[in-house]
Amino acid sequence: MTESLENIRSSVRALCAGFPGEYWRRLDAERGYPTEFVKALTDAGFLAALIPEAFGGSGLGIAEAGAILEEIHCQGGNAAACHAQMYTMGTVLRHGSEAQKQKYLPRIATGELRLQAFGVTEPTSGTDTSRIRTTAEKDGGGYIVNGQKVWTSRAEHSDLMLLLARTQPREAVEKRHQGMSVFLLDMREAIGNGLTIRPIRTMINHHTTEVFFDNLRIPGECLIGEEGKGFRYILDGMNAERILIASECIGDARWFIEKAANYARERSVFGRPIGQNQGVQFPIARAHASMEAAALMVTKAAGMFDGGEPCGAEANMSKLLASEASWQAANMCMQTFGGFAFAEEYDIERKFRETRLYQIAPVSTNMILAYIAEHVLGLPKSY
Ligand SMILES: Cc1cc2nc3c(=O)[nH]c(=O)nc-3n(C[C@H](O)[C@H](O)[C@H](O)COP(=O)(O)OP(=O)(O)OC[C@H]3O[C@@H](n4cnc5c(N)ncnc54)[C@H](O)[C@@H]3O)c2cc1C
Repeated sequence: MTESLENIRSSVRALCAGFPGEYWRRLDAERGYPTEFVKALTDAGFLAALIPEAFGGSGLGIAEAGAILEEIHCQGGNAAACHAQMYTMGTVLRHGSEAQKQKYLPRIATGELRLQAFGVTEPTSGTDTSRIRTTAEKDGGGYIVNGQKVWTSRAEHSDLMLLLARTQPREAVEKRHQGMSVFLLDMREAIGNGLTIRPIRTMINHHTTEVFFDNLRIPGECLIGEEGKGFRYILDGMNAERILIASECIGDARWFIEKAANYARERSVFGRPIGQNQGVQFPIARAHASMEAAALMVTKAAGMFDGGEPCGAEANMSKLLASEASWQAANMCMQTFGGFAFAEEYDIERKFRETRLYQIAPVSTNMILAYIAEHVLGLPKSY
């Protein structure tokens, strides 16, 4: 396992060498999409790592998929443009019909179809998904969708969207998370026919959008699994998402720590390397220790996930610890570089902005703490 992970890492490293800091910096300034990078990853089969071989993928586990994402981030890149495909695909794989799997998964594996958009969050519901207002009403053999999503990342760079909508009002169901359904909709047919995408400019280059549904008609075969069970299907994919995002955080932390250690060795002030001062070297050492500890939790969660064990607590803890470790490393790196950290050409300010996201999305730190408090420690539910 260790050897195969190292092989994966070295292949990803070689691929990333073709996409240096200048590439990401230019895209960041233009708010451009890394089309060439995503194509290279797809062509190399990395984005299909989790798709079973029977559907044209590599049939690898979360540990390998995490190694791919970690290495991209460790090389100064950003997998946010394409990582969603790895985990949204899982909903189709686990809950889709055989016909849906045959129709979509092989074409997702080759890159012919892009499944990058994931429409859950809405402006008024926030973290309380049970209060989403987007509805899908039965109409003949299909559905009519109305409502709005926000923060639907990559919608302009995706062919398909995994959408969560209410098929029954919240008031009509026994438990608040019932009555929601998941749809796999083809945005190519929907744009201009009831689907409108509006980009949101953000502090990072994330290609995120608002999506509006205005009497959008979708065929009945868009429904994934059973009507009303959509929230459960989305939850099923969350452990994978948390572990993969945590892997990206570990990659970021490694990048910051390596940058800072190199700079602290070379930068000379008062006639000696700044890294000779304990005030400079201790924060680097502390960030390294935090990163290594978080990485152990990510490895544990990935091992449990791949072994088919329940790993909600470990997946959540790995995301919590890794996102904090990457932020600690980012802050430390800024301080180590002093004024030069602000110069765009060093990439530190860009990665600093990028890694801050992980304490908020895809799930904010407080929600993870609430999960641990309630489900691991047995404390009363707080919300
Ligand atoms: C760049 C970006 C990309 C994103 N991409 C996607 C995407 O592709 N698809 C998608 O569906 N969503 C996406 N999101 C949405 C993201 O998942 C949410 O922003 C995130 O889950 C937090 O929800 P919110 O912004 O509505 O915050 P809110 O729910 O409004 O919460 C605001 C703050 O209050 C805290 N809070 C709320 N309730 C409680 C409580 N009971 N106890 C303690 N603290 C609480 C939260 O932790 C948070 O810090 C993206 C967001 C961003 C910023």
